[in-house]
Amino acid sequence: MQVYTSFNGKDRSPAAVVGLSIITVGIYYLVWYYKINKEIKLHNPQIKVSPGWAVVALFVPVANLVTAYGTAARIRQMQLDEGASQTISPVVALLLAIFLGIGYPLYIASQLREHWHFHAIQSLKNASTQSVDGVPNAQQLPQGSDRVVTSLEATVESKPELG
Ligand SMILES: [Zn+2]
Repeated sequence: MQVYTSFNGKDRSPAAVVGLSIITVGIYYLVWYYKINKEIKLHNPQIKVSPGWAVVALFVPVANLVTAYGTAARIRQMQLDEGASQTISPVVALLLAIFLGIGYPLYIASQLREHWHFHAIQSLKNASTQSVDGVPNAQQLPQGSDRVVTSLEATVESKPELG
């Protein structure tokens, strides 16, 4: 069963997330933190999270670490639900949040970017192998089909005109 919806998160550069957070004195960080949690939830409805409360938790000692770990754990769940072999490490994310502030958004944003990229590529592939009305393109037809079509056309053309 497919666990994910067609909703994809926004592709954000990890460096831009950090840069914008610094420029806006942390305000962008809160917006980003809200959005990524909402995107994860929309992408995988099995994952329960209240993005608003996640942001509130950032202001509360200890709860800020719980939510930092929790967001990484949700990303891991999203990856595992789709059979990923390489996943984010929520423990590493937590250690980054404690000891290296900017390491946390860099790590989280790069993991998310990779995931959204994967889906973007998948949907491009699907779009290129299907025509608008769902009839497969020539590349998808079994080998030799083109020759059958050509010989059919030749047959039609070689028929003497009736009447
Ligand atoms: Zn996914």
